[in-house]
Amino acid sequence: MGNKLRMGMVGGGAGAFIGPVHRMAAELDGKIELVAGAFSQSAERSRAAGAGFGIDPARAYAHYAEMIEAESRREDRIDFVVIATPNHLHLPVAEAALAAGIAVMSDKPATATYDEVLKLETAVARAGLPYGLTHTYAGYSLVREARSLCAAGALGPIRKVAVEYLQGWLSRPLEATGQKQAAWRSDPALNGPGGCIGDIGTHAFHLVEYVTGLRVTSLNAALRTVVPGRRLDDDCNALLRLEGGASGTLMASQVAAGEGNGLRLRVYGEKGSIEWQQEDPNRLRVKWLDEPEQTRHAGVGYLSADALAVTRLPGGHPEGYIEAFAVLYREFADSLIAWKAGKGIALPDTLPGIRAGVRGMRFIERAIESNKTESWVEF
Ligand code: NAD
Repeated sequence: MGNKLRMGMVGGGAGAFIGPVHRMAAELDGKIELVAGAFSQSAERSRAAGAGFGIDPARAYAHYAEMIEAESRREDRIDFVVIATPNHLHLPVAEAALAAGIAVMSDKPATATYDEVLKLETAVARAGLPYGLTHTYAGYSLVREARSLCAAGALGPIRKVAVEYLQGWLSRPLEATGQKQAAWRSDPALNGPGGCIGDIGTHAFHLVEYVTGLRVTSLNAALRTVVPGRRLDDDCNALLRLEGGASGTLMASQVAAGEGNGLRLRVYGEKGSIEWQQEDPNRLRVKWLDEPEQTRHAGVGYLSADALAVTRLPGGHPEGYIEAFAVLYREFADSLIAWKAGKGIALPDTLPGIRAGVRGMRFIERAIESNKTESWVEF
């Protein structure tokens, strides 16, 4: 136990969605343990959550600022803070942790607004500490395989990208029922100005740049609010232009009735293409212009070194969401261990960090601007 990295969590109390995923993923590789937290807005609920996780009652705090202050004074202080709260708290929690010399693993989007992420970028640079961002899908082995194929030029120059992220859970005004996840996501003060485009559009955008290695240079986006009374967008279509002359489409919706977590990426080069779907994550389809189509399976020895490096189980034993999340934690933990040993910051480029955070927030801001002006906007 003594050698594990010590994690302090903000958010993730009873009934939270992603907090428990962070805890499971962080602990999967035996490098991290949860020792502290401010798990809820309510002191009582934070204490109750801490008791449930078996942490020292003195380290279940009423407020994140109290946690950072108290932990800073301990010899066995937390090594990093994980942020699993609604978006409006991402910047203040990260800033407080970094100012106290504590590293940060944050959920996406990096902040609530583009202005905020620029402040965060400065804070990360000033602190000189590791900062990771949990764009979950970057942790799947077959996403790494797709990325390797693009980087090696196997598909030829990239010509076209089609990404879609379709969910149906906000097809009705769920926020009006008080449902927790829907309530803060449809409140601009807690979520930020981009609804669906911020919540899941950023994941799709990140996946495009992560897999192709190409940056989006301009976009033309149409954002709509389909459900009457909703305060933020819930349905988005965008045209993209990328470096090197490629173009693409990005479709994100949370009113696609019947869809669960339908994230699908297709990338077309001159010689062939790839297709990956989050709901079938252990298969990557590779289609060639002049050869028969392939299906590559997770966990099999023919995969690239990058894919095998994040493979835990032999082929045929499905890996999923928690394992992908845990890949990001393992990369973050290894970097933090190296940093603690005085080796400086060497976050691998496979782990999304502050640069991805800034790109994601810029994407939201640009999409809103494009929608407002009904025109193409430069990135
Ligand atoms: P949620 O509403 O389920 O959980 C938020 C938690 O934050 C709750 O436990 C709440 O009590 C707590 N909280 C709120 N204010 C707090 C405060 N002041 N101090 C301490 N805790 C506080 O929300 P969620 O769906 O889990 O989303 C949380 C974050 O994770 C969001 O930023 C969201 O965008 C992100 N997210 C990422 C992924 C992913 O794939 N990586 C998936 C879902 C959500």
